[in-house]
Amino acid sequence: MITLLLMMGTVSLSVAQVSESTLIRCASTEQDSLRISKNPALFKLRQQSEAVIQQYISRSRVNKRTNADEIVTIPVVVHVIHSEEGRSMGGAGNANITDAQVNSQIEVLNEDYSNTSGYKGFYTDSLGVDTGIRFKLVTIVRTYNSKSQFSPITDGDDLAEISPAWSTNRYLNIWVCRLNDRYLGTSQFPVVTEINNRTQGLATSEDEEQDALTDGVIIDFRYFGRNAEAITSRIYNLGRTTTHEVGHWLGLIHIWGDRNCGTDHCEDTPPAYTKNETTDIECTPVFSDCRGVNTRNMIENYMDYSPDACMSVFTNDQMERMHAVLELSPRRAKLVEFSKITTDELLVDIYPNPVQETLFSSIFTPNFEVFTVSVFNQRGQKVIQDKLNRTSLNVKNLPSGLYFYKVETASKTLTRKFYVR
Ligand SMILES: [Zn+2]
Repeated sequence: MITLLLMMGTVSLSVAQVSESTLIRCASTEQDSLRISKNPALFKLRQQSEAVIQQYISRSRVNKRTNADEIVTIPVVVHVIHSEEGRSMGGAGNANITDAQVNSQIEVLNEDYSNTSGYKGFYTDSLGVDTGIRFKLVTIVRTYNSKSQFSPITDGDDLAEISPAWSTNRYLNIWVCRLNDRYLGTSQFPVVTEINNRTQGLATSEDEEQDALTDGVIIDFRYFGRNAEAITSRIYNLGRTTTHEVGHWLGLIHIWGDRNCGTDHCEDTPPAYTKNETTDIECTPVFSDCRGVNTRNMIENYMDYSPDACMSVFTNDQMERMHAVLELSPRRAKLVEFSKITTDELLVDIYPNPVQETLFSSIFTPNFEVFTVSVFNQRGQKVIQDKLNRTSLNVKNLPSGLYFYKVETASKTLTRKFYVR
């Protein structure tokens, strides 16, 4: 009996105080493995993607194009999901984080991606570059839900149902919530493919349609931003979990290549035996023996697992890789295209037309205005109700015929005809 009580005591203690040494920086690889096991074709696609990225990078090196010449600004929507009914925002343990905490994360992203954090990490001979990528907060969407914690590996769909993504071909969606399993965050890797007539409209399969709804990153609120009461970690306290996860969202791989001495397809990150998963905030050098050569691990790289304070570098090759993905991944490429539009008009494209199953749209609203989509039949009956910021619709249950696709913002309305076969 005494033993049992002691054991119970130990268990409740370990639940109350998760030791920082047991935290796991990132669930992206695990989440991706799960997606690949559900859809084996994705593995082939990943291999093809890699070839396409490599080809693109070597072509642009030959043409001496510098990717970062033009700054790309990514609009960001932050979804705060919390179970704190009737409690004010902020404070330790409160997943309903403050606006200030969200803003601090956007600041961190901009500093890290522009290599201007002011703090160069432990190593001053930094190989860090300005990636030419910036972030702009468009809005914070707050949603109460009774579910108090989420799995970063399996609950992406849940989160996207609770707080639906804003068009993932225009925005980076970040879901902030309480995660279980001791993970700090996760990210959805981009689909990368040669953009042609078939892929222009993004979706080439039902899986991709599903992917479009969950495309983004998920971060535990206790590691989001910096200088906020909700951030209780001593190690993951400077907002670099999000810097890391957004790196994956832009196609970067862990510097150890997710296997012993694996590759991240970047020549300027030295080989590393494995991740730097440590509570050592002194950033003591770590060395690897890979292929018979002893090299220092680039533990200061954002794509390692080092404590936040040890991180300060995206390399030139990582920068090139991210820009390749921004060109080659249909949703990311569309986002870049949208970010350059300056018109005051509402722009709407729908495809394919005629359509059988899923109707996609490419919608630009000036000033990031929200929009709703609805569908009417020839008799003027609304057959699909208002969908907020939605760019794909399932129409396979509609009888064949002519329909009207209506997009509305606060100030503008536009209607497009389409046919269901
Ligand atoms: Zn990661």
